[in-house]
Amino acid sequence: MVKPGDLVNEDPQALKERLRQREAELSILREVTELVSGAYDLQTVFERVAVRARDLIRADTVAIALLAHDQKSYTYCAAVGRNAEEILDATLPIEVGICGWVLRQQKPWWRGTLEQLNPQERNRWEQQAGTVILLPLSGRRRFLGGIAGINKQGGGDFDQRDFELLSLFASQVSVAIENAMILEELNTAGRRADAYREKLEVLNGRLKRTNSDLQRLAVRDPLTGLPNRTLIMDRLRQAMREAHRNEQNMALIMLDLDHFKEVNDALGHSVGDNLLIGVGRSLGSVLREPDTLGRLGGDEFAIVLPDTDRESIATVVDKLQAALKEPIRVDHNSFSVGASMGVALYPDHGEDASSLLKCADVAMYSAKRTRGDYAVYDPLEDQHNPDRLEMLQDLRTAIQEEAMSIAFQPKLDLRTNRVTGIEALARWIHPQRGVIPPFEFIPVVEHTGLIKPFTLQILDKAVAFCKQCVDMGYLLDVAVNLSAHNLRDPNLPEQIGDILSRHNLDKRFLTLEITESAIMHEPERSLDILNALDRMGVDLSIDDFGTGYSSLSYLKRLPVKQLKIDRSFVGDLIEDRDDAMIVRSTIDLAHNLGLSTVAEGVETEEIMERLLEMGCDLAQGYLISRPLSADDLLSYLASGEWKVSRASDGVA
Ligand code: C2E
Ligand code: CA
Ligand code: CA
Repeated sequence: MVKPGDLVNEDPQALKERLRQREAELSILREVTELVSGAYDLQTVFERVAVRARDLIRADTVAIALLAHDQKSYTYCAAVGRNAEEILDATLPIEVGICGWVLRQQKPWWRGTLEQLNPQERNRWEQQAGTVILLPLSGRRRFLGGIAGINKQGGGDFDQRDFELLSLFASQVSVAIENAMILEELNTAGRRADAYREKLEVLNGRLKRTNSDLQRLAVRDPLTGLPNRTLIMDRLRQAMREAHRNEQNMALIMLDLDHFKEVNDALGHSVGDNLLIGVGRSLGSVLREPDTLGRLGGDEFAIVLPDTDRESIATVVDKLQAALKEPIRVDHNSFSVGASMGVALYPDHGEDASSLLKCADVAMYSAKRTRGDYAVYDPLEDQHNPDRLEMLQDLRTAIQEEAMSIAFQPKLDLRTNRVTGIEALARWIHPQRGVIPPFEFIPVVEHTGLIKPFTLQILDKAVAFCKQCVDMGYLLDVAVNLSAHNLRDPNLPEQIGDILSRHNLDKRFLTLEITESAIMHEPERSLDILNALDRMGVDLSIDDFGTGYSSLSYLKRLPVKQLKIDRSFVGDLIEDRDDAMIVRSTIDLAHNLGLSTVAEGVETEEIMERLLEMGCDLAQGYLISRPLSADDLLSYLASGEWKVSRASDGVA
């Protein structure tokens, strides 16, 4: 080091030069001090250190290498001067290069020449370099890396002074680098924390939305947005409590769409879904503020009417039916839907929500059976009612004992005015209650799994009676009704064959009537059985035609011979122009497909004449005859009120 005394003896020029030099060194150290204390980012510190160091020792190139955390490699994270770009960002294994040596030894390299390294240890730039000075950078907490000067500006070697200056510089600068590193770690951690916080906020938001969706979904039907069963039950309980408190009545309406399943099957679920949305809207439009409309599932809706009585219910039901009659547009189709509604009243029919719901359900099925718009719960009809259970037992006995009876209703050929056939209609004559009509007991038969023996029994009796008529010379065919369940029974065709041969009746005398909705219930499966029956030579007739949604293309695939136009169209034929049009086009459609037509429910002369004009083939109804017992039918045939086709007429 220079001692104060030395200054006196030096020549002024050299002294001046040394002072200037000192000045520069001090300014460098000041800058380093600032770097140490300042909050600079790592890259800025590196760059400024490299530039300053280059000035300090007048090196061609200065590079700073940082040791990797695992101490297996080092990376040049700053470089200034010649070849700087090449050096910058290069990562080398710690075994390689002078720098590697310095980092391994944690000792400075100075005055050494590159020739002293073994050839494998040199990388390209080192081989090109002449003189190198390399000092370790040691922080307070750990060893950081090294700072290298490569080649002296203007040639020559780095000297003792360069070494001392760079040592001083390196020791100071290490602190700055370490500070910046800590700062950067802090920043990274901070950024990471920020990012986490942001992510957390996003997640929180999402969670909140999902929560409210879930909450909404838990009480709302996702398709229609209406209250679901849970919410409906809640509102129902609330309305019941209120009615109890204020000594009022309240009502629950349960509503089920007619033929929804057929629409869904024929036109697809998306049409079905949109129809349900439309129905929800239509129904909602006629309700008052305190009423609650909800969807129970499928095509079932429920309406809670607080503070109401039987009369206002009738008004509400009318309004609901009218709203549904308004066409609902879905895609290119427009639907007017029918619905069956069941009404249960509080406190008359039930004291708690679930029993009231059951009552409304029972009433709804009764409305469906009777084809009425709605039914108010009737305890006598209830399956769970003790009376009902007794009736079920009686029904089972009647079927087992083959005690079912049959009424026969004639079918008249409109052109020849002759009776050409009869329809067998089941009757249950109850020992105490008398005659029970089919719409009251057939659904029960279906629900209790008795439909197979029941149908076979009716077939057997109908075929036997038909054979009797044929043997008496009457050429009458007999029609027997099948239920949807029968169309899923693969044994049916064979059993029918057995019955025919047992009674020795030609198969052409038997017609089977199947409703449109029964076929459309499971079209593909039904088709197999229908085809089998057709192959046997039994005639098939589509009953209640016009009330379902069988598509025309489907109709063409069915092996049927006859369409029976539903009596709801026939009855209003004279007054209702729409119905007249439906009947006319059904007749035309049937004829185009090569089918004959039967009009049901013909009650007046006027209707019969109109049907004849329209080209209808056959008529059936009270005008011609009510359904008659076997004996009464034989007397009727003998009376000659309408002529009957007889074998002797030669009319077949
Ligand atoms: P359906 O097959 O449409 O039978 C015609 C129904 O219309 C019969 O009612 C008949 O009495 C009634 N009817 C006949 N002429 C007229 C008329 O001019 N005006 C009016 N308003 N009604 C008329 P019923 O006997 O009560 O039968 C009701 C339904 O029960 C039948 O409707 C049929 O779907 C079903 N059914 C009857 N017997 C059987 C059976 O043995 N098996 C099955 N699966 N269903 C049956
Ligand atoms: Ca029928
Ligand atoms: Ca019918």
